[in-house]
Amino acid sequence: MKVEDKKVVGIDYTLFLEDGSIADSTEGEEPLYFLYGNANIIPGLEKALAGLSVGDEKIVDISAEDAYGEIDEDAFEEMPLKAFPSDAKMEKGMSFALIDEEDNHIPATVHEVGTETITMDLNHPLAGQKLKFNVKVVDIREASEEELSHGHVHGPDGHHHH
Ligand code: ZN
Repeated sequence: MKVEDKKVVGIDYTLFLEDGSIADSTEGEEPLYFLYGNANIIPGLEKALAGLSVGDEKIVDISAEDAYGEIDEDAFEEMPLKAFPSDAKMEKGMSFALIDEEDNHIPATVHEVGTETITMDLNHPLAGQKLKFNVKVVDIREASEEELSHGHVHGPDGHHHH
């Protein structure tokens, strides 16, 4: 069996940033399962896995564009400092979840703290970054009808309902 559309694929991976630091890894954890061909993972990694078999291992370099996208200059938002709790010491690089009108949690990072306003960066934390994956295919199986209709995987064995 090979990695292709409508297959559920399990991978072990380590994600390296450009500076060589590790951003994420499945080491010591369960493999990541996803429905192939459904944009469940970043496009560059999905492309690189096409046609691989269980046991195949690969080092994949991915441009920012094929990963979490380039930094969107429109995704910086200036907010009044008083919108934040007065006892919160706001510093560049701190991460928050902002909550919008529809109760969605939007991850945001403090980009700049001014005297009266604060600029939040709403880009994905890995936007604008080239990524390197060390990835190994550990499992491939047929997706169930239910998984295909939902467009995502239901756990390693396909029986997780939600
Ligand atoms: Zn589902």
